[in-house]
Amino acid sequence: MAANRSTVAAILVAAGSGQRLGADVPKAFCLVRGRTLLEYAHERFAEHPGVRDVIVVAPAERIEQAATLTGSAVVAGGATRQASVSAGLAALDAAIDTVLVHDVARAFVPAAVISRVLAALDGGAEAVIPVRPVTDTIKRVDDARRVVDTVDRSTLVAVQTPQGFRRDVLEAAHAAASSESATDDAGLVEAYGATVVVVDGADESFKITRPWDLVLAEAVAAR
Ligand code: C5P
Repeated sequence: MAANRSTVAAILVAAGSGQRLGADVPKAFCLVRGRTLLEYAHERFAEHPGVRDVIVVAPAERIEQAATLTGSAVVAGGATRQASVSAGLAALDAAIDTVLVHDVARAFVPAAVISRVLAALDGGAEAVIPVRPVTDTIKRVDDARRVVDTVDRSTLVAVQTPQGFRRDVLEAAHAAASSESATDDAGLVEAYGATVVVVDGADESFKITRPWDLVLAEAVAAR
C-alpha cells in the first residue's frame, strides 16, 4: 500500500457566519471549554499521519487570528461555502493529489473517520463521503405545512465531512459548477458525473449548527 500513497491536503472551511448558532462571533471562533471550534477541528487533521497539508479558509477579517490559532496556511473565504472551498483549492500545493474538504462546524470528527475516507481513496475511489443512517422519520411538507408524503428512510443517509476527492475530479467539478450555492462538494462531483462512494461516519462528527449543539459539544469536549 505504501508504494502509491497519495499526497493529501485538508481544506477546513471556517468562513461561515454561524447565524443559526446565535453567537456574536463566527461559528468557527466560538469557544467550547476554552478552545475555538477551529482549534478542535484543526487538531484532528494536523495530527493525522495521512494528511500532509492543512489549509484553513477563514473570514477575511480573521485570517491572522486563524493563523495564530492553527499555525497553518489561511486564506479568505467567500460569500458561500462553495466559494470558500474554491478559495482553498486555489491555495493547494502542486504536489497535492488528494483533497479532504471538512466543515469546521464538525469540530469533533474522529481520526478513524478521516482514515476511512483516505482508505477508500487509496483503494481507487475518486470521491468519498462519510454517512450516518437517518434515524428520524422523514416527511415532505408543502407551504401550507401539510404533509405531502413519507419518504422511505431505508434508502436515505445523512452526509457528513470530511469529503474526500481526487484533486483533479474536485477541481473539474468546481470549474463546471453552474451556480455557487452547493452545500457540499460531493453534490458538485455528482453533477459532474463522477461516482461518489460512502463510508461510515460517526456520531461525534455531528455538525454544530444550533444552540443545542453547543451543549452537546461541551459534553464531547469534556470526555
Ligand atoms: O452554514 P453551514 O453550517 O452549513 O456551513 C458549513 C461549513 O461551511 C462551516 O464550517 C462554515 O464555516 C463553512 N462556510 C464557509 N464559507 C461560507 C459559508 C460556510 O467557509 N461562506
